[in-house]
Amino acid sequence: MSEKMQQLINEAEQDLLHTYNRYQIVIDRGEGTRLYDADGKEYLDFVAGIAVFSLGYHYPGFDEALKAQIDKILHTSNYYYNEPAIRAAHLLKEASRMDRVFFTNSGAEAVEGALKAALKYAYTRRGQDDYEVIALEHSFHGRTFGALSVTGNAHYREAFGTMPCNVRFAEMNDLDSVKALVTDKTAAVIVEPVQGEGGLIPATEEFLRGLRELTKEKDICLIFDEVQCGMGRTGYMYAWQKYGIRPDIMATAKALGSGVPVGAFLLTEETAAYSLTAGDHGTTYGGNPFACAAAAKVLEIYKEKDIPAHVREIAPYFTEKLDGLASKYSCILERRGTGLMQGLVFDRPVAPVIAEAMKNGLILINAGPNILRFVPPLVIGREEIDGMVSILEPILSGLG
Ligand SMILES: *Cc1c(COP(=O)(O)O)cnc(C)c1O
Repeated sequence: MSEKMQQLINEAEQDLLHTYNRYQIVIDRGEGTRLYDADGKEYLDFVAGIAVFSLGYHYPGFDEALKAQIDKILHTSNYYYNEPAIRAAHLLKEASRMDRVFFTNSGAEAVEGALKAALKYAYTRRGQDDYEVIALEHSFHGRTFGALSVTGNAHYREAFGTMPCNVRFAEMNDLDSVKALVTDKTAAVIVEPVQGEGGLIPATEEFLRGLRELTKEKDICLIFDEVQCGMGRTGYMYAWQKYGIRPDIMATAKALGSGVPVGAFLLTEETAAYSLTAGDHGTTYGGNPFACAAAAKVLEIYKEKDIPAHVREIAPYFTEKLDGLASKYSCILERRGTGLMQGLVFDRPVAPVIAEAMKNGLILINAGPNILRFVPPLVIGREEIDGMVSILEPILSGLG
C-alpha cells in the first residue's frame, strides 16, 4: 500500500465513528465491472457496493441522465410535483406490478414505510392500535428502529432497548412456525423472498404460497422486503414474480438508483385504500428529482436491455462454477442462493479468503462469518465469472 492510501485510512479512522471494520483499501473509481483503489490497482468486483451497482459502473447513458438532471434541479420537496418522480413511479409500477409508490432515501426507510403502511391498514380495518408483527429469524431489514425491530439477529438489537414494533420471529420456510405466532393482533408478516445478510436463503414457493393464503384469510398485510433480492438479481424483476405470489406491500432500494441513494415502498391498490393518507407519512428528500432521475434511468435501461433475462441466461454458468468449487474443496459445505445472489458456506470463517482475494484483485464479502457472498453487477459475463474463479481457486486449494 502506498503512503498516500495509508494516510487516508489513518485520517478516516480518526474522524469517522468506528461502526465498520473496513477493508484496508480506499476505493477511488469504477469502470464497468472493475474497481480501482487510490493506488490505481484494479479489482474485479463481485460485491457491487452490496447489490447496488447492478449495471456496473458508468453504464452507457446513465451518467448523462444524472448530469442533465443536475443542470435542471436537484430537489424540490414533496409539496410540489416533479417530472423525474412521475416518470420513475410509472416505470417502477410497471416493473414491480404493484400500484402505489412512495419514494424513500434508503432500504431501511422503505421498510419503515412498509411497516407504517401495514399498521395503518390494520388500524383502519380493525380500529385497534395494539399490533404484532411476524418476522423471520436470520432476516435483515435495516438499522433504523422499526426496521431493526423486525431484523432476526438478536445481536443487532441487543443494546437498544425496547423496539417500537411488537415482533415475533418465525422460521424461514416453516409455515407452521408462522401459523403458531398468528393472533388477532397480527398486522403484518414481513419476509425477504431471498434472505441476503442472513445467509443467501431463498424462500420456497410452498412457503410463500402458504404465507399468501394465511395472510389473505386473516386480513394481515404480507410485506416482501426485496431491497437486496429485487431489481433482477434473481432473474426476475422482483423475486416474488417468479411464482406470481404478490405481496400487499413491498420494499425496494439498493439497485434501484444504481449508486444514487433511493428506495421505495409500494402498495397494492386494495391495501392503499385503507392505508396511509395525507399527513400520515413524509420525507424531505425522498423522491427528489435527482434520485428519481437515477431510478427512472435505471428502470429504462432494465426495460430496454431486459437485465433480468441476462441474469437468467448467465446464472446457470455462475452456479455451475460455484458448484464446481463446492464439490472440489472440502472446506466448502454448500452453495446457496439463486440467480446472481449466491453464497458458499464454509466450515470456517471466510475473512482470510476475502483478504487474500482482495490482495489478488477480487472484491468479495461475507454474509455472516462463514459464508462467502457473491452479489456481482448483473451485467457480468463469462469472462468475469472465469476471472473470479481463477483468483479464488488457488486460495481455496491453499486452505486444504
Ligand atoms: C440492505 C438491506 C436493507 C437496508 O437497506 P439500507 O439502504 O442499508 O437502509 C433492508 N432490507 C434488506 C433485505 C437489505 O438487504
